[in-house]
This record gives sequence, C-alpha cells and structure tokens, in this order.
Amino acid sequence: MKAVRLTQIGHPLELQEIPVPPIGEKDILVRVRAAGICHSDAHYRAGRSTMGPLPITLGHEVAGVVEKIGSQVNADVTRKSRRILIRSAR
Ligand SMILES: [Zn+2]
Repeated sequence: MKAVRLTQIGHPLELQEIPVPPIGEKDILVRVRAAGICHSDAHYRAGRSTMGPLPITLGHEVAGVVEKIGSQVNADVTRKSRRILIRSAR
C-alpha cells in the first residue's frame, strides 16, 4: 500500500510503498480514502513535538472504508465496506 511518510525531521514527506499491516482479533483494517494533515503533523515534521521512531505515516484523522474485521469485533458496531471516520489514531 502507499503511505505518505515522515522519514527525517524538516525534510519533505515521502510517498512510500509499505506492507499492509496485519490485524489482531479486536482490530479493524481501514482502507483510507482521505486523510487530514493537522497542526500536530506539522509540528512532528518541524521537530517541535516528540513522536516515536521514524519513519512514521502522518495523518491521524482519516476517513475510509472497513476492509477487514477481527474475529472479536462486535458486528453491531461495524461491518465490511462500511464508511467510517476516525477522529484520532496513532
Ligand atoms: Zn490532529
């Protein structure tokens, strides 16, 4: 899958090919259709806020479609192909 990633503080973001992450039994996998880059992401890029090790994928406020559902996810909460909005994810 493609991801826009921060690889070095203060450098331009890079479009990279990365593996689709595996999901656990309580997780869902979302195919991101849109992602906002907010002031937190700008601060990470500028080195003004701390974060985990690089590289990281920016854009923690996303909208997309449920692609996979873990075996313990409540079927009343979501289903495959449902459109969802994630307010903040890390
Ligand atoms: Zn944000």
